[in-house]
Amino acid sequence: MSAQIFAVANQKGGVGKTTTSVNLAAALALSGQRTLLVDLDPQGNATMGCGVDKRNLAASVYQVLVGLATVANARVASPAVTGEAGGRLDVLPANRELAGAEVELVDLERRELRLKAALREVATDYDFILIDCPPSLSLLTLNGLTAAHGVIIPMQCEYYALEGLSDLVGTIKKVHANFNRDLSIIGLLRVMYDPRATLTAQVSAQLQQHFGDKVFRAIIPRNVRLAEAPSYGQPGVVFDRASRGAQGYMEFAAELIARLKGGT
Ligand code: ATP
Ligand code: MG
Repeated sequence: MSAQIFAVANQKGGVGKTTTSVNLAAALALSGQRTLLVDLDPQGNATMGCGVDKRNLAASVYQVLVGLATVANARVASPAVTGEAGGRLDVLPANRELAGAEVELVDLERRELRLKAALREVATDYDFILIDCPPSLSLLTLNGLTAAHGVIIPMQCEYYALEGLSDLVGTIKKVHANFNRDLSIIGLLRVMYDPRATLTAQVSAQLQQHFGDKVFRAIIPRNVRLAEAPSYGQPGVVFDRASRGAQGYMEFAAELIARLKGGT
């Protein structure tokens, strides 16, 4: 069996892509799934959030993209996931070096397909590969979307969230047409959800109207424990497993696994 590869994308900044990537990856690992998290953002937040020091990497996703390292050489086991699930979460880490890749890739052959080609070699090592995309529709994000079978879109239920969505959907269509016939939107995940805000309920209803069952049932509440966890180098689902935020991501992982088993 070959891994299911999902890109977590939204060109809007600060909408919860990295929090979703890190916590979903860890939740999948805790649920028995062998998982690789690819950090495709020069900020390196997903790397740090899994307890891997971005300032001290032997190799990173940057070297992989420009052909100087393989995924097998550059990946590291997340020290944050231990016990029974220990060793089930690997990270292909990133740091600021990756910012240079954008420029270097332009001159390389098959520049949109570099990540896809690299991941092929480890696809049978995992059940899931998640890709944390940067907040842009850049060549890095393009590599993420081209390598993936599907896109998970985290979004806050606020007015401007819907506006930005059409740009992302347009990009996904272009990638589908030009580079990746496999690509589809797996679903939209409502994050930082605040049920007390009226607008939240309105936007949430609009989302369901537009996207139907592409809106995941699981909802991630606004929860300070998820925001605190990265400073301890731990995913929220490890840092405070009983918190409402962690429970949201555990439910999301279960929903995703069930969906794939059901073939829908
Ligand atoms: P960027 O576009 O910069 O990559 P991002 O989309 O990856 O950002 P995150 O870094 O995941 O977004 O989240 C932005 C901020 O919101 C972070 O400080 C994070 O801790 C916080 N955050 C994310 N999800 C939640 C949540 N459910 N509850 C509370 N805080 C959250
Ligand atoms: Mg991020």
